Amino acid sequence: MVSTSMSDREGLIWFNGKFIEWKDANIHILSHGLHYASSVFEGERSYSGKIFKVREHTERLFDSAKALDLKIPYSVDEIIEASRKALELNNLTNAYLRPIVWRGEEMGVSAPNAKVHCAIAVWEWPTYFTPEEILKGIKVTLSEWKRPSPETIPCKAKASGLYMICSLAKQKAESKGFSDALMLDYRDQIAETTGANIFFIKGNEIHTPIPDCFLDGITRRTVIGIAKDIGMDVIERVLVLDDLKDFEQCFITGTAAEVTPVSEIDEHKFFVGDVIKRISSSYVKLVNNWTGE
Ligand code: PMP
Repeated sequence: MVSTSMSDREGLIWFNGKFIEWKDANIHILSHGLHYASSVFEGERSYSGKIFKVREHTERLFDSAKALDLKIPYSVDEIIEASRKALELNNLTNAYLRPIVWRGEEMGVSAPNAKVHCAIAVWEWPTYFTPEEILKGIKVTLSEWKRPSPETIPCKAKASGLYMICSLAKQKAESKGFSDALMLDYRDQIAETTGANIFFIKGNEIHTPIPDCFLDGITRRTVIGIAKDIGMDVIERVLVLDDLKDFEQCFITGTAAEVTPVSEIDEHKFFVGDVIKRISSSYVKLVNNWTGE
């Protein structure tokens, strides 16, 4: 059986300012981040050797850290430089990057003086879903878990704690034969899937939920730009389950998921049409020819 263990790999990981061997990138069992979820991270992709929107991702990492009162002991430029170097030293061009920041070895719910650690791992991660799923569209089911209110958690931070909900939802969906789960928010409005934002198409209109209690994804914003450029009307609005019957096509967006069509959400069926294919190919073209930061 092929090992899925992330510790069982070769390569170099940037760990608190230095590159170390993959197998040596370990933390102490009494790390605050592990016990109390005082941890934030990013998910980035590089294409043809360039990290897509690395500055936006790195700035979001700092914003997420600020939301958890974690002071990253490096500058945005230093993290960008380390991310690029990690790619180079591991001889990777098309890769996934995972910068992570966490509170270190101190116990107690409050640990304001614990050391803030920072690491960046890079590996090859071709596609988030299988090529067959991408071609036909993924099957999604409604999750029993919901996105929380902004009053209960810093819901715009890419914080590990929030992913407890996503992991529960995705694992349950997969155990029932689906690829992913749709999550409603605390108001029962459609929010997102477990690692991506969601869009619905009807004629020349693209509808997507307002990201007021979940991540306004960098891919989401990029795809909204692409959709407008190709003449679509993009409508950000409140969407509920009852609205699903009005739509013909559906897709999700995320750094890992890129642009992935959805073929069904429980009893609602969608087709993989030309609009999705055009948006997806424009996105692929954009990320592969990225010359910005
Ligand atoms: N929502 C969640 C819960 C995610 O994990 C992600 C992936 N980071 C997204 C949305 C999409 O964000 P982005 O396009 O910035 O990757």
